[in-house]
Order: sequence, then C-alpha cells, then structure tokens
Amino acid sequence: MNKELIMVRYGELVTKGKNRSDFIKALYHNIKRMLKKFKTLTYEVKRDHIYIELHEENYEEIKPILKNVSGLASFSLVYKLEKDLELIKTSCLELLKNQNKKTFKIKAKRVDKTFPLHSDDINRQVAKTILQNTNYKVDVHNPDVLLSITIREDCVYLFENEEKGLGGYPLGIQGKALMLLSGGIDSPVASYLMLRRGIQIECIHFASPPYTSTKVIDKIIDLLKILSFYQGSIKLYIIPFTTLQKKIYEYASESYAITIMRRMMYRIAEKVALNNKCLILGNGESIGQVASQTLVSMKEIENVCTLPIIRPCAVLDKVEIIDIARKINTYDISIRPYEDCCTIFEPKNVTTAPKKQRILEIENAFDFSSLVDECVNNVEIKIIKYDEDLSEFF
Ligand code: ATP
Ligand code: MG
Repeated sequence: MNKELIMVRYGELVTKGKNRSDFIKALYHNIKRMLKKFKTLTYEVKRDHIYIELHEENYEEIKPILKNVSGLASFSLVYKLEKDLELIKTSCLELLKNQNKKTFKIKAKRVDKTFPLHSDDINRQVAKTILQNTNYKVDVHNPDVLLSITIREDCVYLFENEEKGLGGYPLGIQGKALMLLSGGIDSPVASYLMLRRGIQIECIHFASPPYTSTKVIDKIIDLLKILSFYQGSIKLYIIPFTTLQKKIYEYASESYAITIMRRMMYRIAEKVALNNKCLILGNGESIGQVASQTLVSMKEIENVCTLPIIRPCAVLDKVEIIDIARKINTYDISIRPYEDCCTIFEPKNVTTAPKKQRILEIENAFDFSSLVDECVNNVEIKIIKYDEDLSEFF
C-alpha cells in the first residue's frame, strides 16, 4: 500500500476558540519532543489534525508514546492512496485480510465534493467487495474493524480503529504547579495526574539529614526521571528541613507536631512557588488516609497558604493509587525502604482534629518565620532530565 502516516486528533482544545493556535503549537512541540528519537519523522500541522509521516519508522514503537501525550484525543495509522475507487477497494480488502477479525463497517467521508460518488455509494461499493471476497460480516453498531475513508482534494486517506491519547490539554498551556514530592507512592501519582491534565510541574522535597538518608534523594531523582518523560525536564527544590523540624518537636506536643510541620512545609512551598511563577501547589494527599489528611487537618494546615492546593489523589483509595503507580512505573521506586522526614519523626497519637487555638499557641512560642526564610534561602536546586535509557518503559 501507499505512504503511511499518523493522523493525530486534538483533545478538548477544540473548544478553546481564539487560543486554539497556541494549543495546537504546544501539542505539536510536545509530540515532537516525545518522539525525538525517531529521526526520520516529518510533521504537518493543520487546523484539525497533525499528520506525522512515518518514512522508515516503526508505528508499533511510536504508538505507546503517543498514548501518553496530553491534549491528544486519539490517533490512527493512515494509508494515503490515489483517488481511485478500485484502489480503495483492494486496499480495504488487504487491510482486513491481514487481521483475524469477524465484523467490519465502512465509514466514508467526501471532503472533495467533485468526487463522482457520494459517501453512501462508496460505503456500499467497498462493503460489497469485502463481503464477496472474505468471511467478514457487516456490523454497523459495534464492528471489530472500523475502516474510515476520507476523500480529500489531493488523495484518499484510509484508516482503521482509533487509538486513544490522554485527552485533556497540551502540557504547559495551564501554567505551572509546585508539587510536594515525598518519595512515597501517592505524590508521584499526583504529579503524573497533573502532567496528564497538561499542567507543567516543578517539585519540592523536604529533607532532614542526617535523619533522612541521601538515598531518599536518589529515590526522588529516579521518580522524577520517570515523570520527566511527560515534560522533558523537571526542576527539583530540595529544602534542608532539619533545623526547623527539630525546633517544631521542641515546642509542639506529640499530637500536634505533624500539623505544625505540615503548616511549615506549606509556608516554605508557597514562598518557593511565588519566587518561581508557580500558580498552585499540589500534593499526594488522599482524604482520610492518615491523621493529617482528615478534612479538619487539611483545613487547618492549608490556611497558612494563599495559593490554591490541588490534591489529585484526594478521592482515590489506596488501591486505585497503587494501580496508577504500577501503570506509570513509579511503584517499585516508591516502595524502596528509605524513610522520608515525616516517617522518621512520626509521633504515635497524631490528632485528627487539630484546634486553631492550640496551633497558634505553639507557633507563637518560637520565631519560626526566620527559620522558614532560612529554609527558602538554602534551597538546593536540581534539574532532572528525561533519560532516553528509560524509553522501554513507555
Ligand atoms: P506519599 O505516598 O506521597 O508520601 P503519604 O500517604 O505517605 O503520601 P504523607 O506522608 O502524610 O502521606 O504525606 C502527604 C503529602 O505531603 C505527600 O503526598 C506529599 O505531597 C507531601 N509530603 C510529605 N512529606 C514530604 C516531604 N518530605 N517532602 C515533600 N512533600 C512531602
Ligand atoms: Mg509519605
């Protein structure tokens, strides 16, 4: 058969009126970056579709990558034919004979109105050829193979079933979020869900050396290598948290230490976010999972911030979160047994309903704001780039 190309259909961005061309541009650049290793691909960007010509590249290797592009609704492998009905018939036959399916449907569309046959006539004539030459049956509601034929001005496009992309928006269109990344199971999943929605991320991690091992940082970096597949590179802010954390444990009772610690984390995260043009904060919290994740705790913790806090995992249960972690290959890294700063200092009877009055009494007893500033000023920044060696994961 003739030249092969991939037709990419846009996601929700079609509804976005005048921003449309920015959306398409962003999607195009994201696709190009993610398919960088396929050197001979060429691209054609149109109002409704992006066409990717395959040349020598293998569609089966490209397919799993395109399924992970945000803003991409669906895509199909397309055969480009000359405008000749006999050729269309034999090509459809060839496509169906190459697979072991039972039912089909033909869906013709005539963009070029000068083409002598109407779409219904094309449907009927092609179907007739298939019925006469194969054991396939027609099923118009739920066919195993849907063959679409588009008659364009210059040629005919013939394509099979659509593959789904991630939908949502192209990465970068929505602006940046600062994600609190702990190295556990939930926060990498939350970060992925943000990326999938097209939100660019930067990450902040609170480290308490020597109580936390440098292996935790290695773990965070390995997680970010996986996540950077969706974004190319991710900026990581590592906050030296030990001094402030020890101070908290000096002043807070056991049951309030986690609440106060979280409030400090968000104070620091907000400053880093504002310094770096991040519009929102994000975390891996799931409602009710632990004491600091009850609604009362969340409210008392988040009211130190003015930026919105988005919790993509809030309404998922642990099993659902783990399923996603497995799917995106972060699970095995997350369960490596190194402690993060919360688990090391974890007190036993953490309050699930902290009282504002009590919180303020504790916080007013020491000068936390200079310690918060010290954390922000001593931040260590790393840029984690996507590692091509991981490409077999996707
Ligand atoms: P995770 O699996 O993401 O660690 P978790 O269920 O263990 O979540 P917590 O440890 O209570 O829950 O943390 C809740 C959220 O707070 C995390 O998802 C993360 O966003 C943030 N967080 C906790 N510890 C840290 C840390 N050391 N650095 C950065 N963020 C953190
Ligand atoms: Mg944790």
